[in-house]
Amino acid sequence: MFSFDKKIPLFTIRGTTIGIYRSFFLIVLLTWYWGGPWLERCLFSFLLLASILVHEIAHALAGALVGNRPRAITLSFFGGVTEFQAPILPNGRSLFIAFAGPLSNILLVLCTAVGAKALCGNGDVCSWLKYFVYDFFDWEMTKVSLPVGVNVWHCGSAFVGIPCEAWDSLRLVKLVAFLNGVLGVFNLFPAFPLDGGRIFRGLAGSVLGGKRAAFVTMVVGRILAVALACWCVGHDLILEHEILDFAVGCIVAWAIWLGSYGEYVRTKVFVDAEAGDPEAEYNVGCLYQEGILGAKDMDTAVKWFERAAEHGSASAQFEMAQAYEYGDGVEPDKDLAFAYATKAAEQKDPSALALLGAFYEDGFGCDPDDERAFALYREAAELGSARGQYEVACRYAFGSEEVERDVGKAKQLLEEAWAQEYVPAAIELHLMYEFGLLVADDGNVLREYRKAIENAGPNAADLLERRRIRYKCHLSIELPDAPSAETKETE
Ligand SMILES: [Zn+2]
Repeated sequence: MFSFDKKIPLFTIRGTTIGIYRSFFLIVLLTWYWGGPWLERCLFSFLLLASILVHEIAHALAGALVGNRPRAITLSFFGGVTEFQAPILPNGRSLFIAFAGPLSNILLVLCTAVGAKALCGNGDVCSWLKYFVYDFFDWEMTKVSLPVGVNVWHCGSAFVGIPCEAWDSLRLVKLVAFLNGVLGVFNLFPAFPLDGGRIFRGLAGSVLGGKRAAFVTMVVGRILAVALACWCVGHDLILEHEILDFAVGCIVAWAIWLGSYGEYVRTKVFVDAEAGDPEAEYNVGCLYQEGILGAKDMDTAVKWFERAAEHGSASAQFEMAQAYEYGDGVEPDKDLAFAYATKAAEQKDPSALALLGAFYEDGFGCDPDDERAFALYREAAELGSARGQYEVACRYAFGSEEVERDVGKAKQLLEEAWAQEYVPAAIELHLMYEFGLLVADDGNVLREYRKAIENAGPNAADLLERRRIRYKCHLSIELPDAPSAETKETE
């Protein structure tokens, strides 16, 4: 499916990948819509890209300076995103990193004023800055006392030409001043996902403490989002009838509304985790495990899971059992894996019950015990574990020492597991239809399972083949190599 969130990597410099999100092209389209002559539009798009890049590179350099290596810079509809190896936590270092971006743009505006002074050979830097600002807001030129030769120029929008000896160069300078001024100032708004949100939270944190500062930042961000939305309705929609401006403004307001809340939740989790809340410690572990804050970092994830597990979090104990099973972030250790799975299972964690069942089935860290394994699987299934439901269903499908054969029960359990997108359940259902244990009312059912298996990748295809051999053995019949589902669908 088409997604504006897709990243297109362009090139890599010293380990930092520079790329663009597809949504970036929307800005280019907008500038095309807003702009003047085509050359100016091209120039505008190019300078916009360059200005955002300068902003993000400033973040990246600041990060590198304080020991947090940048991983990727990606330009998007909302400007750009710089990702770092370590997550950006609310502290002094992140304040520095956040401030570097807007500062780089503001410095560039200063440079343009110096450049304009040099190009025209008159005025001072301060009046040139005023000129850029007034020009941006379309204010009357007479309000500013500009250097001789400048105040006679027509002053319209930022795109209007200026008759001067340094005409073209000056126009370029104006454009750079305009873009960087907007980027610098807009990013200082105290709302996430803008840099100003991080700066505001950092400054507020030194007075209010982390958690309250995060909350206040969220409230301020949401007030700004509502104010922006009101402005869009009042000014863009009702007064000016500018549907496109209205739409863009609303998207930005919506992003600020969501960004403010998301960042608040994330900060709160960290603050609670530091204070020893097991649920929060587990959640922080997940953030590192999934790589939501930066690079995936299983070593750090395991440290948080271990803390949470010590404080009694069953979910964290389950994660520790899996980490020790696969040696993910720790040295593999059967006994520890078994011990953690047992602890979590004692708290009736459904996933842990199923995992412990598998350990008993395979004799992993314990003596094999099929009866115990089945009891655990069944308990897990009753509590909603897809893996438990699947394991119990597989036994019902052909009957086992523990249960009588019951295809209907197997089907029901597998469908419950598949509702949780547990792919082995789709494989089993597919085989049950394929080998005639179940009869499909229409071919769509089979097609759906087959598509799900194909989408799940090579591991799912392998499992399908292995299970198919088991089915052939179980049913002791010769079947053609091609799935007979194909013929059944057309019957
Ligand atoms: Zn920034």
